[in-house]
Amino acid sequence: MTDERVVAVWRDGAAVRVPADQPVVTAFDLGLGRGDGVFESIAVVGAGAPHLPAHLARLARSAGLLELSDVGGTAWRALVDSVLAGWDPGTDGVIRLFLTRGLGQGLPPTALAVLSPVPAEVVRQRTDGISVITLGLGVPADFRSHAPWLLGGAKTLSYAVNMAALRHAAARGADDVIFTSLEGQILEGPTSTVVWSADGVLHTPPLETGILPGTTMARLFARAADAGRPTAVTPGTADDLLAADAVWLVSGVRAAATVHTLDGVPRGDGGLSAGVRELLAR
Ligand code: PLP
Repeated sequence: MTDERVVAVWRDGAAVRVPADQPVVTAFDLGLGRGDGVFESIAVVGAGAPHLPAHLARLARSAGLLELSDVGGTAWRALVDSVLAGWDPGTDGVIRLFLTRGLGQGLPPTALAVLSPVPAEVVRQRTDGISVITLGLGVPADFRSHAPWLLGGAKTLSYAVNMAALRHAAARGADDVIFTSLEGQILEGPTSTVVWSADGVLHTPPLETGILPGTTMARLFARAADAGRPTAVTPGTADDLLAADAVWLVSGVRAAATVHTLDGVPRGDGGLSAGVRELLAR
């Protein structure tokens, strides 16, 4: 029988399993007080986390952007092995890795891993698709690439805005959000990368807009290229998405969720979603 929630923390050079209801950080942890840290969400497939290397690479990159000291790949793998020990391979799970500045002042960072089942709502969205609204983020599309203090491209713990956007969408009867720039360019979802298909080409917005480099989008585009399907990095607008053959919000835990309604307008997927999911499952 799988524990529903599992926690492991990095202590004195080792991964230590901790009961899920026990505290693992002090009240002065800067991850708590300032959201000063980074994280990753990693799908558990069967008994393992096959996409861990791409997530560890992004975690290291995010830590670098925040000038956080990192515990390193060996520690993260030990934490992942620790939470996976005893996990039921029949349960869809998600591992979250957290790295915070700890108490600051040059003291060691806080590093921990948690594992829990994928929420039922996420499983539903994988199969039923999602309704999405566009919401402005208020920054010009080219601003964040010249503004390192805005931490574009880093997966920081400061996700309060992303969560507020999702609540705003829910209040308007939608499942999810696509953020747009000041000029109306498509950026990303609060927890996903935007991918659309037009004229047989898979498109995604440029990273220079400050969006997070999605590991799932990268995998999808690599496998599409292997299968001879063209891909492109393309600035786009909501009108481009409305005119597209299909639109997906893509992430490790939800895979490719088909957008069936955009800003209240119902839209199809041209029968393309099955092929995209098949590429991701390879
Ligand atoms: N963009 C943002 C803002 C995210 O939070 C996420 C995932 O959590 C993604 C994109 C998708 O990233 P990945 O495909 O690596 O899960």
